[in-house]
Amino acid sequence: MGFFDKFKEKISTVVQDTSSALGFDRLKDGLDKTRKSFANKLQAVLGIGRKIDDELIDEIEEILITSDIGVTASEMIIESLRQRVKQEGFENSEDIFGILQEEIHKILVRSPSAGNDAAYSIDEDNKPHTILVIGVNGVGKTTTIGKLAHNYKAAGREVLIGAADTFRAAANEQLEVWAGRAGVQIIQQKMGSDPAAVAYDTLKSAIAHKKDVVIIDTAGRLHNKSNLMAELAKISRVMKKQKDSAPDDVLLVLDATTGQNAVQQAKEFMKVANITGLVLTKLDGTAKGGVVIPIAAELKIPVRYIGVGEKINDLQVFDPTTFTAALFGVNDGAGE
Ligand code: GDP
Ligand code: GDP
Ligand code: MG
Repeated sequence: MGFFDKFKEKISTVVQDTSSALGFDRLKDGLDKTRKSFANKLQAVLGIGRKIDDELIDEIEEILITSDIGVTASEMIIESLRQRVKQEGFENSEDIFGILQEEIHKILVRSPSAGNDAAYSIDEDNKPHTILVIGVNGVGKTTTIGKLAHNYKAAGREVLIGAADTFRAAANEQLEVWAGRAGVQIIQQKMGSDPAAVAYDTLKSAIAHKKDVVIIDTAGRLHNKSNLMAELAKISRVMKKQKDSAPDDVLLVLDATTGQNAVQQAKEFMKVANITGLVLTKLDGTAKGGVVIPIAAELKIPVRYIGVGEKINDLQVFDPTTFTAALFGVNDGAGE
């Protein structure tokens, strides 16, 4: 087996981890609270053999909206539901459970979030692959970077992390701990240094040492939008001095526990940064996991990864089929 084949095999192993039995169980466990609040609410309305009428459909719409699925996505789902009830002649309320699952799956599969299969592959002719990670304070940027570094490394990649959150004293130490866990190197300067200078140094070092992937951590101050915009623009501009296409990816990290606020945050950041992908963290331990649906359906940017815990292997590639299956509590993501 040649090097490239070996490499491809490694990638698919990592990517398959998401949909492997273990990865799926982890996701399903992580979505426990969301499923209980959502699927069980539905079950309470649908499981008692009610006639399908306008009143029932209104109740379902309310459940969707109060499950953080958002008004627009909920309306899309309800519209399809009404049509299908009319056309396909369902009479039993229990059938609706399956229809909702199919419609949510359909929305996610048609969204830009479908097609994450190549999540840990990079353009061989454009190395190092550079990733800038942004988002407000506390959403999980640094944690996600540790997990990402771990996954890239598992895919056979050499990773270098840049500590461009120079705002907080503890930021360097926290990132160091994560780099240590992932077994990758980190470039840092003292607190208060210019974040762009750290990004510049990191990329320079990565090019000199022929690294495959560069991940830049940033501070998450959003209280002054024009400052943030200026800082992110400066980081990008300085990175471009080393590599034309840098940053190749700009990942916006969002905290799922904030529900609809996460949608709002994404819209704000989209105005100031050229975001290429979203990461939704903390899906474990929140009942607001339904927020993945409007984020994937409405924002026109793919949800690339989801965080389902605080450990290094708790970052999964977002997959519409696996997610829907876990949300509805069916046994695996296959066969749809
Ligand atoms: P940053 O300020 O954006 O860099 O956020 P951090 O990476 O420091 O994370 C803030 C907190 O969120 C930490 O306590 C993390 O352990 C926690 N966190 C991050 N991702 C997840 C996740 O997927 N699940 C859970 N439960 N906690 C997470
Ligand atoms: P400013 O000079 O602070 O307004 O911002 P620049 O866009 O010039 O660069 C920000 C930081 O990136 C600088 O302080 C340097 O640390 C680093 N940098 C940018 N361009 C270069 C360069 O051509 N060579 C070196 N060594 N560092 C650079
Ligand atoms: Mg951080």
